[in-house]
Amino acid sequence: MSEQIERIKTLIIGSGPAGYTAAIYAARADLNPVVYTGMEPGGQLTTTTEVDNFPGYPEGIDGPTMMVQLQQQAERFGTDVRVGMATAVELSDEVGGIHKVTIDNDKVIEAETIIISTGASAKYLNIPSEQRLRGGGVSACAVCDGFFYKGQEVAIVGGGDTAAEEASYLANICKKVTMLVRKDHMRASKAMQHRVNSLDNIEIRYNTEVDEVLGDQVVEGLRMVNNQTGEKEEIAITGLFIAIGHKPNTDIFKGQLEMDDVGYIITEPDSTKTNKPGVFASGDAQDKIYRQAVTAAGTGCMAALDAERYLATIGSAIEATARWD
Ligand SMILES: Cc1cc2nc3c(=O)[nH]c(=O)nc-3n(C[C@H](O)[C@H](O)[C@H](O)COP(=O)(O)OP(=O)(O)OC[C@H]3O[C@@H](n4cnc5c(N)ncnc54)[C@H](O)[C@@H]3O)c2cc1C
Repeated sequence: MSEQIERIKTLIIGSGPAGYTAAIYAARADLNPVVYTGMEPGGQLTTTTEVDNFPGYPEGIDGPTMMVQLQQQAERFGTDVRVGMATAVELSDEVGGIHKVTIDNDKVIEAETIIISTGASAKYLNIPSEQRLRGGGVSACAVCDGFFYKGQEVAIVGGGDTAAEEASYLANICKKVTMLVRKDHMRASKAMQHRVNSLDNIEIRYNTEVDEVLGDQVVEGLRMVNNQTGEKEEIAITGLFIAIGHKPNTDIFKGQLEMDDVGYIITEPDSTKTNKPGVFASGDAQDKIYRQAVTAAGTGCMAALDAERYLATIGSAIEATARWD
């Protein structure tokens, strides 16, 4: 490890909508934020073509362009955006304490405040046809992409609460929803199961898995396999939604920050405060319910305001240098 150490006021880990929104607010408040982009600069939205529900884009916008614009907006106010991964953290328990974050197993950043915006990754089945058609009809977000399949026939994979909720959401928009449940029962709560069962246009296939997603450029169908009998069946669909869970990107904080059993960081109610003073969490890394770009941006804003107030309370030891006028 090199001996490079840098001390800053505000370190933002992650460059999705939460991280860049936090950066816009933090930079405008002269917190001189440094953003480390991580392995996916721009975050999850860079994997989607069409974002139709982020306010301010009446014609919609493609995800990568939107994220470049968010980065430019953050940089306009002096945010220092750097490529790099936070690989280890040492968080202080003291109010006013200095937190240490190692970047790429090399450089150490010492920060008075940290905003965690490391997001979450949707789990996929990881079969080749599914990977090939991601963005071409395969999606991990029914609320984001369901609209594009209005009046069409789609399928959804999963048997938990999220899958059941997304299936009922799709049933309101689509002509028919085929739900593939790997086991002979659903894991979803009884209430959610009841909701799914009460909708006429949802067909539930138990003991059923995806054998292959059919189509060259876009999804045209699905070959399903019954995992008890081995029997295969093809159906025509235009959209396939994967709802088998998300994994928050929070492993490096384990043992230091309070998390739920899945790894979502726990924040105080009506706040982005974690259990460590000066460490704030925003976006999908702490939100297992809404998981939208606009809600991530909202909590990113909250985190920057919380960081600013915290620094005002402790009295930052680092002089502010205006990077914009
Ligand atoms: C296919 C798809 C389509 C979607 N469509 C829409 C849509 O149309 N509308 C909508 O509102 N939402 C949509 N979403 C959901 C939306 O993308 C997320 O809710 C949102 O991106 C969450 O923002 P975030 O900033 O919390 O995290 P993310 O966007 O997940 O960004 C996380 C960031 O953290 C970085 N990171 C992770 N670990 C580290 C580390 N150790 N060190 C440094 N950096 C790190 C990553 O590189 C990344 O930059 C979609 C999601 C998917 C997967």
